[in-house]
Amino acid sequence: MNPFALIPLQIAGCILVADFLSGLFHWLEDSYGQTHWPILGKAVIEPNLKHHSDPRAMTKNSWWKSADLQVLLGGVYLALRWLMNALTWRKALVVSVLVNANEIHKWAHRNPKENGRVITWLQKHHIVQSPRQHGQHHRGLKNSAYCTLTDHLNPLLDRLRFWVRIEVAVYKMFGVRRRLDRAWIERMDRIA
Ligand SMILES: [Zn+2]
Ligand SMILES: [Zn+2]
Repeated sequence: MNPFALIPLQIAGCILVADFLSGLFHWLEDSYGQTHWPILGKAVIEPNLKHHSDPRAMTKNSWWKSADLQVLLGGVYLALRWLMNALTWRKALVVSVLVNANEIHKWAHRNPKENGRVITWLQKHHIVQSPRQHGQHHRGLKNSAYCTLTDHLNPLLDRLRFWVRIEVAVYKMFGVRRRLDRAWIERMDRIA
């Protein structure tokens, strides 16, 4: 078989890996992130909570503001891989897509007029995540649709209750519960 024939499949695989990683980091932030953590508390967790209370605020951020931490971490990871002689185009592609995860997330909070024709077309054809799917994450307990790059993984992961199952496993193994945001506390108050 022509080895180049597999390249489109590998590219699609890399995008799905990046999508899954975007969900994994987002889930970690939402479930366990604490604002009092050194460095990460201010740099990651506070903006994350702010995004939940004011989703549209991020639409004013520049590409750099949305991607600064990802560029730094992705750059360190790729440099280490290169030094270890273990850098492949697939790893570079996953990192490149992941660096843009917040930018694509930002598109999901903008309206078609703000996004322009090309981005709106990409969203409509499910090449990047649609506002409709990302909107699911911002409803209720904010404990679903964690992946922010495409529309393809979230339905599967949520149907499998993938993130909830890991939270249960983490609780059983380490006795650590997920963070209770206002939405969770309000829900518990309603039940009580
Ligand atoms: Zn979230
Ligand atoms: Zn969002």
